[in-house]
Amino acid sequence: MDRAASITIGDIEITSVWDGTLKASLDSILRLDPKEAARLVAAEHEETGVDPLVLPVRAFLIRTGSRLALVDTGSGNTKGPTMGHLPRSFAALGVAAGDIGCVLMTHLHMDHIGGLIDESGRPSFPNAELVLHCEEASYFLDTAEDKLDARSRRNLDFQRLAVAAYGDRVRRVADGEGLPGVVARLAPGHTPGHTCWEVTSQGKTAAVFGDVVHLGAVQLARPSSAMIYDVDASRAAQTRSDLLARIAHDDILVAGAHLPAGGLGRIVKAGEGYRFKAC
Ligand SMILES: [Zn+2]
Repeated sequence: MDRAASITIGDIEITSVWDGTLKASLDSILRLDPKEAARLVAAEHEETGVDPLVLPVRAFLIRTGSRLALVDTGSGNTKGPTMGHLPRSFAALGVAAGDIGCVLMTHLHMDHIGGLIDESGRPSFPNAELVLHCEEASYFLDTAEDKLDARSRRNLDFQRLAVAAYGDRVRRVADGEGLPGVVARLAPGHTPGHTCWEVTSQGKTAAVFGDVVHLGAVQLARPSSAMIYDVDASRAAQTRSDLLARIAHDDILVAGAHLPAGGLGRIVKAGEGYRFKAC
């Protein structure tokens, strides 16, 4: 289990919530020599003692005063036994599902949306509004199935049911909208509406993202690489390169769903790429 960790951005607190682990594969890496990808993974494994291909999966709590929001929901019971542990993490943190006033989505892939509904199809967060970027909603919810790429069609029934379960409490937002101090910034490519949630308070900023960095050992070191899970690999690579450059330059804190060691920290320049430094 991840160590639960928190960072403070002015008067806003961000806490990582462990959901489990997912096994990644070197075969899923694109736009990079497979030997170089294997070398990067082996080097990080050697340095940290942790297999970088065992990806942590997390959500993040954002607490502003008495208000509690959740970025992503983990995988619920849609994956195997290595995932779906978010309820246990909530219990350890003393948080109840009913305390969540807002769920903010980074994107609608299953390791992020799977926990949105229970096995009966009811909202897992009964008092929450559901907020997602209008671009993500338009792609997964409004597009005719035959116009989507094959991978995006795989879980469409679940994605549409899970969002519909929140009825009139679904809010589609554009860039710059969201909650006080927490706004959507489009970070497209992995999915067309992949969203980085920008948290700002008292002059400090954090970026909360999903799969801008999926396999850190490779994608931080070589931001121009991509993965087969990206709807648009070249756009995902461009977004990653641009966002990591800005985050490192402006010393913005990050909260990443699949980053190692608690997922909260800094991105620092290293060679032709970057490294993650946990808080
Ligand atoms: Zn993911």
